Amino acid sequence: MAAHSDPIVAIATAPGRGGIGVVRLSGGAIERFIQPLTGKTLSARRATFTRFFDAVGDTLDEGIALYFPAPHSYTGESVLELQGHGGTQVLQGVLERCLELGARLAEPGEFSRRAFLNGKLDLVQAEAVADLIDAGSREAARSAMRSLDGEFSRRINSVKEALIQLRMLVEATLDFPEEDVDFLLRADAWGKLANITEKLDAVLAQARQGALLREGLNIVLIGQPNVGKSSLLNCLAGYEAAIVTEIAGTTRDTVREAIQIQGVPLHIIDTAGLRETEDLVEMKGIERTWAALEKADVAVLLIDAQHGVGTQEAAMLERMGEIPVLTVHNKIDLGNDTPRASADGLELWLSAKTGMGIDLLESRLLQLAGWQATGETTIIARARHVAALRRASKHLEMAKETGTQLELLAEELRLAQEALSEITGEFSADDLLGVIFSQFCIGK
Ligand code: GDP
Repeated sequence: MAAHSDPIVAIATAPGRGGIGVVRLSGGAIERFIQPLTGKTLSARRATFTRFFDAVGDTLDEGIALYFPAPHSYTGESVLELQGHGGTQVLQGVLERCLELGARLAEPGEFSRRAFLNGKLDLVQAEAVADLIDAGSREAARSAMRSLDGEFSRRINSVKEALIQLRMLVEATLDFPEEDVDFLLRADAWGKLANITEKLDAVLAQARQGALLREGLNIVLIGQPNVGKSSLLNCLAGYEAAIVTEIAGTTRDTVREAIQIQGVPLHIIDTAGLRETEDLVEMKGIERTWAALEKADVAVLLIDAQHGVGTQEAAMLERMGEIPVLTVHNKIDLGNDTPRASADGLELWLSAKTGMGIDLLESRLLQLAGWQATGETTIIARARHVAALRRASKHLEMAKETGTQLELLAEELRLAQEALSEITGEFSADDLLGVIFSQFCIGK
């Protein structure tokens, strides 16, 4: 086994009280932990009811022990799972015993990192494990499961395989000077390139949807007091409990994440907290809000349908720069107006109180975000994947423009393949792996 096979241990279940708590060990030499911990030898993959012992033979807990000899385990190494009672002290006791026996505490994501390094999962699948755990909606969870199943990896690999075939053609032409551009023309190299581009664009579109489902949409909410901002948030959230009404100035962290539309998370940045203040803590919060505004995808300006845009809102809009602004005229029920959208779709009329026209706002927000409810199965994806796919796409575009300069064509195709390999992890720098796995929870 490689250098990463030293025994690691972690409490795999969430902190706090629970019916069951699991301590998990993985590593090259964990067999030697079994006897002192359980006083037994364990059969492979068989649940064994046993006691867990401390150093002097006192019982720490009792429960089920499971032993998965390498390579048939999550990590690809030998794994031992001790399922005891889910109490903090009990689990801590078992954990400490494992440390005494020579294991070290696992870093966040280290079990999955080992699974990746041992070829049990590719990088996209390993990330999907974290995304499945973190999923904020059913749709996100289902999509993460699809990526974990390897659907996203298969789509990327299919593009990559076609690209490798094309590279072989081009490289062969370079290696044999008697072959020339005519040979590539006869082999329909540029037709093949066009096909690959088309395939890649389809994957990119799917990945963009997947990234949206994971990262969500950042919305800035602008509006004067009493125009109905809280009512609108509640209406979007679908239930009152999602939003807590705060006393002016007490909102320290203005970004809320309780809302989803069709499973897409909406991060609402409420600008109500952006007021002049002397309070240091509040100033910090305000700074954070301004920083969040820079990442906004769309600004929603809420106004009372009976009134227009005030000077304060106009000033706020000024600072929005390039961000698209959706103007929402609220309280149409008071004027007996009907819900509608302007022809350019940038203005909407609705009532947050009665819910009339909220569907218009929802579909407009999703549309602005680029979400297409195609009914097609979405796969979870990350900004990192979208960026790499874009890079691959750019290299394919450049490849098209190289004309008869075959060395350049070969190089662009190589770079495109490299970008794709980065996604699944065949070609990933160590520091990238560090960043990815450090975002996992401990014990996974
Ligand atoms: P905020 O200060 O912008 O968060 O506004 P609120 O959501 O607290 O609403 C202020 C008042 O306007 C409340 O009394 C709401 O019930 C009322 N309100 C909000 N939306 C509507 C609407 O669509 N129609 C009517 N008639 N009243 C509304």
